[in-house]
Amino acid sequence: MIDRRTALQTTGWGLLGLASAPALAQTAFAPRTPIVPINAQADRLMRITVCLRPFRAAGPRIEVERIAGRQVIHHYGHGGSGWSLSWGSAMQAVPLALQAGAREVAVVGAGAIGLTTALTAQRMGLKVVIYAAERFPDVRSNRATGTWSPFSRVAMEKAVDPGFAARWEVMARRSWAMHQHYLGRAGTPVEFLERFVLFDAPPGGVDHAISLPGGGTDMFVNYEERLADITPRNEPLGRDQHPFPVPIARRNVAMNFNVSALSSTLEQEFMAAGGRFEPMTLASPRDFARIKERVIFNCTGYGARALMGDTSIIPVRGQIAWLPPQPEVRYGVYYRNIGVTPRADGIVVQNVGATEAFGFNDANETPDPDAARASVEVIASLFRAV
Ligand SMILES: Cc1cc2nc3c(=O)[nH]c(=O)nc-3n(C[C@H](O)[C@H](O)[C@H](O)COP(=O)(O)OP(=O)(O)OC[C@H]3O[C@@H](n4cnc5c(N)ncnc54)[C@H](O)[C@@H]3O)c2cc1C
Repeated sequence: MIDRRTALQTTGWGLLGLASAPALAQTAFAPRTPIVPINAQADRLMRITVCLRPFRAAGPRIEVERIAGRQVIHHYGHGGSGWSLSWGSAMQAVPLALQAGAREVAVVGAGAIGLTTALTAQRMGLKVVIYAAERFPDVRSNRATGTWSPFSRVAMEKAVDPGFAARWEVMARRSWAMHQHYLGRAGTPVEFLERFVLFDAPPGGVDHAISLPGGGTDMFVNYEERLADITPRNEPLGRDQHPFPVPIARRNVAMNFNVSALSSTLEQEFMAAGGRFEPMTLASPRDFARIKERVIFNCTGYGARALMGDTSIIPVRGQIAWLPPQPEVRYGVYYRNIGVTPRADGIVVQNVGATEAFGFNDANETPDPDAARASVEVIASLFRAV
């Protein structure tokens, strides 16, 4: 997702060709992407989805535990970065199964982490069965924004071990490289799009301290500089370089995941390599014994909180208001804390909050229609003034 800190700090790269679609009339405006207006009207809302980011202050849990006679490799807790970090995270988890001498493994969970873990295991020569309560489109991963956000709510400064930042960087770089293999594929599972970051006034400093459920405060880690060489940077735009009615505008280019196309591509690849899905709900850790494979990846995401009684997982709520797809809209926008991402399966309109504390420790998964309409109205007001 576009989080506020990313919007403020990232500065842009990448030049896209000047196209000639029905852009807004401009004189000096020379867009690289034509700015076709987004039809942001609250009465066009087609659905509202809510998702809980499976956040752990110490970062994703990747470790082996012996449970019910099985080697369980925990692989969960990727916060707001699950899609982004998925491949690199799987590349750290799967070798633990190889070390255990496994030839056939089970994966519990069929979200972003479960699918990429299963595919990575297959590529490393393992036979894989996925057991899961839900598959796409019912998993929480299906309710993600779908942008490259490896920095988003991934861990907290005081809670991480000294080696975490380096491991995270390896994870992020491997993921970045792997996602690029899905560019240019049928159905466009992954693509790059321009994004405009807009402000009414110079963005001021923001207090990023988070109050923890058990007391005290901490801050989300901020590793953006570690990926400075590969992360799109914001490019400031002059008033004559964009059509938006704001004094401050920046442009960057962002990797986006068309989640429905990406998940179906991953599922197809998994099955084409001999993978199999089996519906199963585990009520407690004892249920790992119901799985015949001796080595099991636990990729249950937020579900691990209930399954494992793992209160280190803190929900971070996020809601998306969906507008019908507009294939002609080929750019994203961030304005007044609202991020807009055009996807093949709809236009994502999301309040990302004034700080990263937005939604922290909020497990309410019920959609809030008033908030959804308010988010769309912010974007409507922007385009009325264009
Ligand atoms: C609003 C929002 C926007 C986001 N946007 C982005 C983004 O743009 N980019 C990004 O990288 N990340 C984003 N994220 C984060 C990302 O969605 C998560 O990190 C990711 O979905 C976690 O994937 P997962 O596979 O671990 O979990 P899930 O998708 O929740 O999958 C868990 C799987 O485990 C199964 N399961 C759970 N419990 C059990 C059980 N007891 N028995 C059997 N099966 C079980 C489930 O059925 C499911 O198959 C966003 C999150 C939110 C909330």
